[in-house]
Amino acid sequence: MFWSKLVIVAGALLTEAAWVEMGRHDSRPDIVLVTVDCLRSDHTGCGGYARNTTPALDALARRGVKFETALAAADWTLPSLASIMTGLHPSRHGAVAAWAKVWPQTQTLAERLAGRGYATAAFVASVFADPDTGLAQGFQIYQVCKPQSGLPPPPGSPSELAEELPTSVEPRDSDASVVADRAIRWLEQPLPGPRFLWVHILDPHYPYTQREPYFSQFHPGPALEGPEDPDFRSGADGNDVWPGGKALPERLQSSMVALYDSEVRYTDDAIGRILAKLDMTRTLVVVTGDHGEQLREHGWIGHGHSSSRQELHVPLVMAGESVPVGKTVATPVSLVDVMSTLLTAADATGWEPPDGAPLQRFFGVGNPAALDVFSESLESLGCEQVYSLLEGQKRLVVRFDRKSGALGSLSCYDWQVDPQELRPVLEAKDSSQRALLDTLSRHVELMRRAFYAGGDPTGRDIRLTPGRIEQLAALGYLR
Ligand SMILES: [Zn+2]
Repeated sequence: MFWSKLVIVAGALLTEAAWVEMGRHDSRPDIVLVTVDCLRSDHTGCGGYARNTTPALDALARRGVKFETALAAADWTLPSLASIMTGLHPSRHGAVAAWAKVWPQTQTLAERLAGRGYATAAFVASVFADPDTGLAQGFQIYQVCKPQSGLPPPPGSPSELAEELPTSVEPRDSDASVVADRAIRWLEQPLPGPRFLWVHILDPHYPYTQREPYFSQFHPGPALEGPEDPDFRSGADGNDVWPGGKALPERLQSSMVALYDSEVRYTDDAIGRILAKLDMTRTLVVVTGDHGEQLREHGWIGHGHSSSRQELHVPLVMAGESVPVGKTVATPVSLVDVMSTLLTAADATGWEPPDGAPLQRFFGVGNPAALDVFSESLESLGCEQVYSLLEGQKRLVVRFDRKSGALGSLSCYDWQVDPQELRPVLEAKDSSQRALLDTLSRHVELMRRAFYAGGDPTGRDIRLTPGRIEQLAALGYLR
Protein backbone atom coordinates (compact mmCIF):
# COMPACT_ATOMS: atom_id res chain seq x y z
CA MET A 1 0.00 0.00 0.00
CA PHE A 2 2.75 2.40 1.00
CA TRP A 3 4.74 1.82 -2.16
CA SER A 4 1.76 2.11 -4.46
CA LYS A 5 0.79 5.45 -2.88
CA LEU A 6 4.36 6.66 -3.20
CA VAL A 7 4.49 5.69 -6.85
CA ILE A 8 1.25 7.53 -7.53
CA VAL A 9 2.44 10.68 -5.75
CA ALA A 10 5.83 10.58 -7.47
CA GLY A 11 4.15 10.02 -10.81
CA ALA A 12 1.89 13.00 -10.27
CA LEU A 13 4.84 15.22 -9.36
CA LEU A 14 6.83 14.10 -12.36
CA THR A 15 3.90 14.69 -14.67
CA GLU A 16 3.38 18.17 -13.29
CA ALA A 17 7.08 18.98 -13.55
CA ALA A 18 7.28 17.66 -17.07
CA TRP A 19 4.24 19.65 -18.10
CA VAL A 20 5.61 22.90 -16.71
CA GLU A 21 9.01 22.28 -18.20
CA MET A 22 7.79 21.29 -21.65
CA GLY A 23 5.15 23.98 -21.73
CA ARG A 24 7.78 26.62 -21.11
CA HIS A 25 9.84 25.51 -24.11
CA ASP A 26 7.09 24.87 -26.66
CA SER A 27 5.91 28.13 -28.18
CA ARG A 28 3.51 26.59 -30.65
CA PRO A 29 -0.08 27.63 -30.04
CA ASP A 30 -2.94 25.46 -28.98
CA ILE A 31 -5.41 25.23 -31.86
CA VAL A 32 -9.18 25.19 -31.46
CA LEU A 33 -11.38 24.66 -34.50
CA VAL A 34 -15.15 25.02 -34.08
CA THR A 35 -17.44 24.08 -36.96
CA VAL A 36 -21.16 24.69 -36.76
CA ASP A 37 -23.56 22.76 -38.96
CA CYS A 38 -25.76 24.81 -41.29
CA LEU A 39 -24.43 28.17 -40.10
CA ARG A 40 -24.94 30.69 -42.88
CA SER A 41 -22.96 33.90 -42.80
CA ASP A 42 -25.83 36.33 -43.17
CA HIS A 43 -27.55 35.04 -40.02
CA THR A 44 -24.59 35.96 -37.82
CA GLY A 45 -24.05 39.38 -36.28
CA CYS A 46 -20.55 39.67 -37.73
CA GLY A 47 -22.09 38.73 -41.08
CA GLY A 48 -24.47 41.69 -40.89
CA TYR A 49 -27.60 40.12 -39.43
CA ALA A 50 -29.89 42.44 -37.48
CA ARG A 51 -30.84 39.87 -34.83
CA ASN A 52 -28.45 39.25 -31.96
CA THR A 53 -27.80 35.62 -32.89
CA THR A 54 -24.04 35.40 -32.32
CA PRO A 55 -22.67 37.70 -29.58
CA ALA A 56 -19.78 35.36 -28.74
CA LEU A 57 -18.76 34.94 -32.37
CA ASP A 58 -19.06 38.69 -32.94
CA ALA A 59 -16.79 39.41 -29.96
CA LEU A 60 -14.26 36.91 -31.33
CA ALA A 61 -14.37 38.66 -34.71
CA ARG A 62 -13.67 42.02 -33.05
CA ARG A 63 -10.50 40.66 -31.52
CA GLY A 64 -9.37 38.82 -34.64
CA VAL A 65 -9.88 38.57 -38.39
CA LYS A 66 -13.24 38.18 -40.06
CA PHE A 67 -13.34 36.71 -43.56
CA GLU A 68 -16.63 38.03 -44.81
CA THR A 69 -16.68 36.05 -48.06
CA ALA A 70 -15.83 32.48 -47.08
CA LEU A 71 -17.35 29.60 -49.03
CA ALA A 72 -17.61 25.96 -48.06
CA ALA A 73 -16.09 23.44 -50.45
CA ALA A 74 -19.41 21.61 -50.61
CA ASP A 75 -23.02 22.29 -49.68
CA TRP A 76 -23.47 19.44 -47.22
CA THR A 77 -21.75 18.04 -44.21
CA LEU A 78 -19.48 15.14 -45.07
CA PRO A 79 -17.63 16.48 -48.12
CA SER A 80 -17.30 19.90 -46.54
CA LEU A 81 -15.96 18.68 -43.20
CA ALA A 82 -13.59 16.38 -45.05
CA SER A 83 -12.35 19.32 -47.11
CA ILE A 84 -11.72 21.32 -43.96
CA MET A 85 -9.83 18.41 -42.45
CA THR A 86 -7.80 17.55 -45.54
CA GLY A 87 -7.33 20.84 -47.38
CA LEU A 88 -8.66 19.14 -50.49
CA HIS A 89 -11.63 19.60 -52.74
CA PRO A 90 -14.16 16.76 -52.38
CA SER A 91 -13.08 15.10 -55.64
CA ARG A 92 -9.61 14.70 -54.18
CA HIS A 93 -10.59 13.21 -50.80
CA GLY A 94 -13.42 11.01 -52.02
CA ALA A 95 -16.01 11.59 -49.30
CA VAL A 96 -18.61 12.82 -51.76
CA ALA A 97 -21.56 10.57 -50.91
CA ALA A 98 -23.39 9.50 -47.81
CA TRP A 99 -21.85 6.05 -48.15
CA ALA A 100 -18.36 7.29 -49.00
CA LYS A 101 -15.43 7.97 -46.73
CA VAL A 102 -12.22 9.92 -46.88
CA TRP A 103 -9.80 7.89 -48.96
CA PRO A 104 -7.43 6.24 -46.50
CA GLN A 105 -4.28 7.49 -48.21
CA THR A 106 -5.39 11.07 -47.55
CA GLN A 107 -3.45 12.99 -44.93
CA THR A 108 -5.63 14.76 -42.41
CA LEU A 109 -5.01 17.84 -40.33
CA ALA A 110 -5.20 15.82 -37.13
CA GLU A 111 -2.66 13.31 -38.44
CA ARG A 112 -0.24 16.05 -39.37
CA LEU A 113 -0.57 17.80 -36.03
CA ALA A 114 -0.37 14.58 -34.01
CA GLY A 115 2.78 13.73 -35.94
CA ARG A 116 4.29 17.01 -34.75
CA GLY A 117 3.56 16.35 -31.11
CA TYR A 118 0.11 17.85 -30.75
CA ALA A 119 -2.43 16.16 -28.51
CA THR A 120 -5.56 15.78 -30.63
CA ALA A 121 -9.19 15.48 -29.60
CA ALA A 122 -12.55 15.87 -31.33
CA PHE A 123 -16.02 16.22 -29.86
CA VAL A 124 -18.53 16.08 -32.66
CA ALA A 125 -22.26 15.67 -33.20
CA SER A 126 -23.29 14.44 -36.63
CA VAL A 127 -23.76 11.15 -38.37
CA PHE A 128 -21.51 12.58 -41.05
CA ALA A 129 -18.71 13.01 -38.53
CA ASP A 130 -18.98 9.38 -37.47
CA PRO A 131 -15.59 7.62 -37.25
CA ASP A 132 -16.63 5.47 -40.22
CA THR A 133 -16.29 8.52 -42.44
CA GLY A 134 -12.55 8.64 -41.93
CA LEU A 135 -12.70 12.02 -40.19
CA ALA A 136 -11.38 10.45 -36.99
CA GLN A 137 -7.99 9.80 -38.63
CA GLY A 138 -5.28 11.29 -36.44
CA PHE A 139 -7.40 12.02 -33.39
CA GLN A 140 -6.28 10.40 -30.17
CA ILE A 141 -9.66 11.17 -28.62
CA TYR A 142 -12.75 11.12 -30.84
CA GLN A 143 -16.17 11.31 -29.29
CA VAL A 144 -19.52 11.49 -31.06
CA CYS A 145 -21.65 13.31 -28.50
CA LYS A 146 -25.20 12.30 -27.69
CA PRO A 147 -27.16 14.38 -25.19
CA GLN A 148 -28.72 11.56 -23.22
CA SER A 149 -25.44 9.84 -22.42
CA GLY A 150 -24.28 12.59 -20.07
CA LEU A 151 -20.67 13.28 -19.31
CA PRO A 152 -18.30 10.42 -20.11
CA PRO A 153 -15.49 9.26 -17.90
CA PRO A 154 -12.30 11.25 -18.44
CA PRO A 155 -11.16 10.44 -21.95
CA GLY A 156 -8.00 8.45 -22.24
CA SER A 157 -7.93 4.70 -22.44
CA PRO A 158 -8.96 2.94 -25.62
CA SER A 159 -11.74 1.12 -23.79
CA GLU A 160 -13.23 4.34 -22.50
CA LEU A 161 -13.00 5.82 -25.97
CA ALA A 162 -14.69 2.85 -27.58
CA GLU A 163 -17.68 3.18 -25.29
CA GLU A 164 -18.25 6.66 -26.60
CA LEU A 165 -18.44 5.75 -30.26
CA PRO A 166 -21.98 4.92 -31.30
CA THR A 167 -22.39 3.79 -34.86
CA SER A 168 -24.65 6.69 -35.71
CA VAL A 169 -26.54 9.60 -34.28
CA GLU A 170 -29.71 11.17 -35.64
CA PRO A 171 -29.54 14.86 -36.58
CA ARG A 172 -31.90 15.95 -33.80
CA ASP A 173 -30.08 13.77 -31.30
CA SER A 174 -27.67 16.54 -30.48
CA ASP A 175 -27.13 19.32 -28.01
CA ALA A 176 -24.49 22.03 -28.26
CA SER A 177 -24.18 22.29 -24.49
CA VAL A 178 -23.21 18.62 -24.22
CA VAL A 179 -20.57 19.00 -26.91
CA ALA A 180 -19.23 22.10 -25.17
CA ASP A 181 -19.16 20.35 -21.77
CA ARG A 182 -17.02 17.55 -23.14
CA ALA A 183 -14.69 19.89 -24.98
CA ILE A 184 -14.23 22.02 -21.86
CA ARG A 185 -13.55 18.97 -19.77
CA TRP A 186 -10.70 18.04 -22.10
CA LEU A 187 -9.40 21.59 -22.21
CA GLU A 188 -9.18 21.58 -18.43
CA GLN A 189 -6.84 18.62 -18.44
CA PRO A 190 -3.18 19.69 -18.23
CA LEU A 191 -1.08 18.42 -21.09
CA PRO A 192 2.68 18.50 -21.63
CA GLY A 193 2.54 20.01 -25.11
CA PRO A 194 0.25 21.89 -27.47
CA ARG A 195 -3.19 20.59 -28.27
CA PHE A 196 -5.59 20.54 -31.22
CA LEU A 197 -9.28 20.54 -30.41
CA TRP A 198 -12.03 20.13 -33.00
CA VAL A 199 -15.62 20.76 -32.00
CA HIS A 200 -18.52 20.19 -34.39
CA ILE A 201 -21.96 21.39 -33.25
CA LEU A 202 -25.07 20.22 -35.06
CA ASP A 203 -27.88 22.19 -33.44
CA PRO A 204 -28.85 24.57 -36.29
CA HIS A 205 -29.59 21.52 -38.45
CA TYR A 206 -33.23 20.91 -39.46
CA PRO A 207 -35.56 19.93 -37.78
CA TYR A 208 -35.05 23.01 -35.66
CA THR A 209 -35.64 22.91 -31.93
CA GLN A 210 -37.40 25.84 -30.30
CA ARG A 211 -34.68 27.32 -28.10
CA GLU A 212 -35.95 29.65 -25.41
CA PRO A 213 -35.82 32.43 -24.48
CA TYR A 214 -34.41 33.17 -27.91
CA PHE A 215 -37.29 31.97 -30.08
CA SER A 216 -39.77 34.15 -28.21
CA GLN A 217 -37.41 37.12 -28.41
CA PHE A 218 -37.06 36.71 -32.14
CA HIS A 219 -40.69 35.84 -32.87
CA PRO A 220 -43.22 36.97 -30.29
CA GLY A 221 -46.57 35.41 -31.04
CA PRO A 222 -48.97 32.58 -30.24
CA ALA A 223 -47.66 29.11 -29.63
CA LEU A 224 -49.23 27.77 -32.81
CA GLU A 225 -46.63 29.63 -34.81
CA GLY A 226 -43.94 27.49 -33.20
CA PRO A 227 -42.51 24.20 -34.38
CA GLU A 228 -45.50 22.14 -33.23
CA ASP A 229 -47.81 23.90 -35.63
CA PRO A 230 -49.45 21.08 -37.61
CA ASP A 231 -49.20 23.06 -40.83
CA PHE A 232 -45.50 23.41 -40.31
CA ARG A 233 -44.99 19.72 -39.70
CA SER A 234 -47.24 18.58 -42.53
CA GLY A 235 -45.30 20.64 -45.03
CA ALA A 236 -42.00 18.95 -44.44
CA ASP A 237 -41.34 15.59 -45.99
CA GLY A 238 -39.17 14.27 -43.20
CA ASN A 239 -36.06 14.66 -45.24
CA ASP A 240 -35.12 18.14 -44.08
CA VAL A 241 -36.73 19.74 -47.10
CA TRP A 242 -39.90 21.55 -47.92
CA PRO A 243 -41.29 20.67 -51.33
CA GLY A 244 -40.41 23.55 -53.57
CA GLY A 245 -43.81 23.97 -55.10
CA LYS A 246 -45.73 24.13 -51.84
CA ALA A 247 -46.63 27.57 -50.58
CA LEU A 248 -45.60 28.32 -47.03
CA PRO A 249 -47.73 30.89 -45.23
CA GLU A 250 -45.78 33.96 -44.21
CA ARG A 251 -46.44 33.41 -40.52
CA LEU A 252 -44.81 29.99 -40.79
CA GLN A 253 -41.95 31.31 -42.86
CA SER A 254 -41.07 33.89 -40.22
CA SER A 255 -41.56 31.28 -37.50
CA MET A 256 -39.22 28.89 -39.25
CA VAL A 257 -36.52 31.54 -39.58
CA ALA A 258 -36.89 32.41 -35.88
CA LEU A 259 -36.55 28.73 -35.00
CA TYR A 260 -33.33 28.51 -36.98
CA ASP A 261 -32.07 31.71 -35.40
CA SER A 262 -32.87 30.43 -31.93
CA GLU A 263 -30.73 27.38 -32.63
CA VAL A 264 -27.89 29.61 -33.82
CA ARG A 265 -28.15 31.69 -30.65
CA TYR A 266 -28.20 28.59 -28.46
CA THR A 267 -25.12 27.32 -30.28
CA ASP A 268 -23.37 30.64 -29.78
CA ASP A 269 -23.86 30.29 -26.02
CA ALA A 270 -22.01 26.98 -26.13
CA ILE A 271 -19.22 28.44 -28.23
CA GLY A 272 -18.93 31.32 -25.79
CA ARG A 273 -18.42 28.88 -22.92
CA ILE A 274 -15.61 27.15 -24.81
CA LEU A 275 -13.94 30.45 -25.73
CA ALA A 276 -14.08 31.59 -22.10
CA LYS A 277 -11.83 28.67 -21.18
CA LEU A 278 -9.05 29.61 -23.57
CA ASP A 279 -5.87 31.54 -22.98
CA MET A 280 -5.97 33.57 -26.17
CA THR A 281 -2.32 34.60 -25.85
CA ARG A 282 -1.31 31.02 -26.66
CA THR A 283 -4.33 29.76 -28.59
CA LEU A 284 -5.41 30.11 -32.21
CA VAL A 285 -9.16 29.84 -32.68
CA VAL A 286 -11.07 29.30 -35.91
CA VAL A 287 -14.87 29.29 -36.02
CA THR A 288 -16.80 28.55 -39.18
CA GLY A 289 -19.79 26.68 -40.60
CA ASP A 290 -19.56 23.41 -42.49
CA HIS A 291 -22.04 24.91 -45.00
CA GLY A 292 -25.01 27.21 -44.94
CA GLU A 293 -28.74 26.64 -45.02
CA GLN A 294 -31.56 27.47 -47.37
CA LEU A 295 -34.52 29.03 -45.66
CA ARG A 296 -36.77 28.78 -48.71
CA GLU A 297 -35.10 31.49 -50.75
CA HIS A 298 -35.13 28.90 -53.55
CA GLY A 299 -38.11 26.92 -52.33
CA TRP A 300 -36.37 24.54 -49.95
CA ILE A 301 -35.42 24.22 -46.32
CA GLY A 302 -32.05 22.67 -45.67
CA HIS A 303 -28.92 22.19 -47.72
CA GLY A 304 -27.31 19.84 -50.18
CA HIS A 305 -29.84 20.71 -52.84
CA SER A 306 -28.41 23.22 -55.24
CA SER A 307 -25.10 24.71 -54.05
CA SER A 308 -26.81 28.07 -53.70
CA ARG A 309 -25.08 30.95 -51.97
CA GLN A 310 -27.27 30.36 -48.93
CA GLU A 311 -25.88 26.81 -48.74
CA LEU A 312 -22.23 27.76 -49.25
CA HIS A 313 -21.53 31.18 -47.72
CA VAL A 314 -20.41 30.67 -44.13
CA PRO A 315 -18.83 32.80 -41.41
CA LEU A 316 -15.09 32.41 -40.93
CA VAL A 317 -13.41 34.04 -37.93
CA MET A 318 -9.83 33.63 -36.68
CA ALA A 319 -8.47 35.07 -33.46
CA GLY A 320 -5.74 34.58 -30.93
CA GLU A 321 -2.02 34.00 -31.09
CA SER A 322 -0.35 35.88 -34.01
CA VAL A 323 -3.69 37.00 -35.47
CA PRO A 324 -4.24 40.73 -36.16
CA VAL A 325 -6.98 42.42 -34.17
CA GLY A 326 -10.11 43.82 -35.75
CA LYS A 327 -9.39 43.09 -39.40
CA THR A 328 -11.98 42.36 -42.06
CA VAL A 329 -11.05 40.55 -45.26
CA ALA A 330 -13.45 40.95 -48.16
CA THR A 331 -11.50 38.86 -50.65
CA PRO A 332 -13.26 35.52 -51.26
CA VAL A 333 -11.62 32.56 -49.55
CA SER A 334 -12.42 28.86 -49.28
CA LEU A 335 -12.64 26.52 -46.33
CA VAL A 336 -10.04 24.35 -48.07
CA ASP A 337 -7.65 27.06 -46.83
CA VAL A 338 -8.20 26.07 -43.20
CA MET A 339 -5.83 23.10 -43.15
CA SER A 340 -2.79 24.90 -44.56
CA THR A 341 -3.58 27.84 -42.28
CA LEU A 342 -3.48 25.69 -39.17
CA LEU A 343 -0.42 23.76 -40.32
CA THR A 344 1.35 27.09 -40.77
CA ALA A 345 0.30 28.26 -37.32
CA ALA A 346 1.56 25.02 -35.79
CA ASP A 347 4.87 25.21 -37.63
CA ALA A 348 3.94 21.88 -39.16
CA THR A 349 4.57 22.72 -42.79
CA GLY A 350 6.73 20.68 -45.13
CA TRP A 351 3.83 19.06 -46.86
CA GLU A 352 1.13 21.31 -48.22
CA PRO A 353 -2.30 20.24 -49.38
CA PRO A 354 -2.65 21.20 -53.05
CA ASP A 355 -5.98 22.99 -52.86
CA GLY A 356 -5.59 25.53 -50.09
CA ALA A 357 -3.39 28.46 -49.18
CA PRO A 358 -2.64 29.80 -45.70
CA LEU A 359 -4.99 32.58 -44.64
CA GLN A 360 -2.05 34.25 -42.93
CA ARG A 361 -1.42 35.79 -46.35
CA PHE A 362 -4.02 38.38 -45.35
CA PHE A 363 -2.44 39.24 -42.00
CA GLY A 364 0.06 41.79 -43.27
CA VAL A 365 -0.42 45.10 -45.00
CA GLY A 366 -1.66 45.15 -48.56
CA ASN A 367 -4.18 42.95 -50.24
CA PRO A 368 -2.91 39.70 -51.76
CA ALA A 369 -4.30 38.54 -55.06
CA ALA A 370 -7.56 36.68 -54.89
CA LEU A 371 -7.53 32.97 -55.59
CA ASP A 372 -10.28 31.10 -57.38
CA VAL A 373 -12.87 29.78 -54.93
CA PHE A 374 -14.44 26.53 -56.09
CA SER A 375 -17.22 24.45 -54.58
CA GLU A 376 -18.74 21.18 -55.70
CA SER A 377 -21.57 18.84 -54.86
CA LEU A 378 -21.43 15.41 -56.46
CA GLU A 379 -23.77 13.15 -54.49
CA SER A 380 -25.99 15.44 -52.46
CA LEU A 381 -29.76 15.31 -51.93
CA GLY A 382 -30.33 17.08 -55.20
CA CYS A 383 -30.47 15.32 -58.55
CA GLU A 384 -27.61 17.28 -60.02
CA GLN A 385 -23.85 17.40 -59.79
CA VAL A 386 -22.88 20.99 -59.30
CA TYR A 387 -19.60 22.86 -59.64
CA SER A 388 -19.22 26.53 -58.98
CA LEU A 389 -16.61 29.25 -59.08
CA LEU A 390 -16.63 32.54 -57.21
CA GLU A 391 -14.49 35.40 -58.48
CA GLY A 392 -15.06 38.75 -56.86
CA GLN A 393 -18.81 39.23 -56.77
CA LYS A 394 -19.61 36.90 -59.66
CA ARG A 395 -20.44 33.25 -59.17
CA LEU A 396 -20.69 30.80 -62.04
CA VAL A 397 -22.59 27.55 -61.42
CA VAL A 398 -22.68 24.58 -63.77
CA ARG A 399 -25.05 21.67 -63.20
CA PHE A 400 -25.02 18.17 -64.65
CA ASP A 401 -27.66 15.49 -64.46
CA ARG A 402 -26.41 13.09 -61.82
CA LYS A 403 -27.54 9.91 -63.55
CA SER A 404 -26.82 10.62 -67.20
CA GLY A 405 -23.95 13.08 -66.76
CA ALA A 406 -25.63 15.35 -69.29
CA LEU A 407 -25.16 19.05 -68.96
CA GLY A 408 -28.10 20.58 -67.21
CA SER A 409 -27.62 24.29 -66.95
CA LEU A 410 -25.17 27.11 -66.51
CA SER A 411 -25.95 30.10 -64.32
CA CYS A 412 -24.05 33.21 -63.41
CA TYR A 413 -24.96 35.41 -60.46
CA ASP A 414 -23.82 38.91 -59.63
CA TRP A 415 -23.86 39.44 -55.88
CA GLN A 416 -23.61 43.19 -56.26
CA VAL A 417 -27.10 43.43 -57.73
CA ASP A 418 -28.53 40.08 -56.61
CA PRO A 419 -27.09 38.99 -53.25
CA GLN A 420 -29.69 36.23 -52.81
CA GLU A 421 -28.97 34.71 -56.25
CA LEU A 422 -32.58 34.95 -57.36
CA ARG A 423 -31.94 36.19 -60.91
CA PRO A 424 -29.11 34.61 -62.91
CA VAL A 425 -27.42 36.90 -65.38
CA LEU A 426 -26.22 35.33 -68.57
CA GLU A 427 -25.26 37.95 -71.02
CA ALA A 428 -24.41 36.44 -74.32
CA LYS A 429 -21.31 38.43 -75.18
CA ASP A 430 -19.91 38.97 -71.75
CA SER A 431 -16.20 38.16 -72.01
CA SER A 432 -15.82 38.00 -68.23
CA GLN A 433 -18.31 35.14 -68.15
CA ARG A 434 -16.33 33.35 -70.83
CA ALA A 435 -13.22 33.73 -68.69
CA LEU A 436 -15.08 32.34 -65.70
CA LEU A 437 -16.31 29.44 -67.78
CA ASP A 438 -12.80 28.67 -69.02
CA THR A 439 -11.49 28.63 -65.45
CA LEU A 440 -14.35 26.49 -64.19
CA SER A 441 -13.99 24.10 -67.14
CA ARG A 442 -10.33 23.51 -66.33
CA HIS A 443 -11.18 22.93 -62.70
CA VAL A 444 -13.92 20.43 -63.50
CA GLU A 445 -11.53 18.48 -65.70
CA LEU A 446 -8.88 18.52 -62.98
CA MET A 447 -11.31 17.37 -60.33
CA ARG A 448 -12.71 14.66 -62.52
CA ARG A 449 -9.25 13.25 -63.18
CA ALA A 450 -8.46 13.37 -59.48
CA PHE A 451 -11.71 11.62 -58.63
CA TYR A 452 -11.05 8.74 -61.00
CA ALA A 453 -7.41 8.55 -59.99
CA GLY A 454 -8.59 8.04 -56.44
CA GLY A 455 -10.08 4.75 -57.48
CA ASP A 456 -13.75 5.46 -56.97
CA PRO A 457 -15.69 3.18 -59.31
CA THR A 458 -18.94 5.14 -59.15
CA GLY A 459 -17.80 8.28 -60.95
CA ARG A 460 -19.85 9.37 -63.90
CA ASP A 461 -19.19 11.36 -66.99
CA ILE A 462 -19.26 14.87 -65.69
CA ARG A 463 -16.78 16.50 -67.96
CA LEU A 464 -17.25 20.02 -69.15
CA THR A 465 -15.66 19.51 -72.55
CA PRO A 466 -15.37 21.93 -75.46
CA GLY A 467 -18.23 20.01 -77.05
CA ARG A 468 -20.41 20.74 -74.09
CA ILE A 469 -19.45 24.36 -74.18
CA GLU A 470 -20.82 24.33 -77.70
CA GLN A 471 -23.90 22.68 -76.30
CA LEU A 472 -24.22 25.64 -73.97
CA ALA A 473 -24.06 27.95 -76.91
CA ALA A 474 -26.74 25.93 -78.65
CA LEU A 475 -28.95 26.33 -75.63
CA GLY A 476 -28.55 30.07 -75.84
CA TYR A 477 -26.31 30.62 -72.85
CA LEU A 478 -23.31 31.71 -74.89
CA ARG A 479 -23.07 33.07 -78.36
ZN1 LIG B 1 -23.58 19.98 -42.15
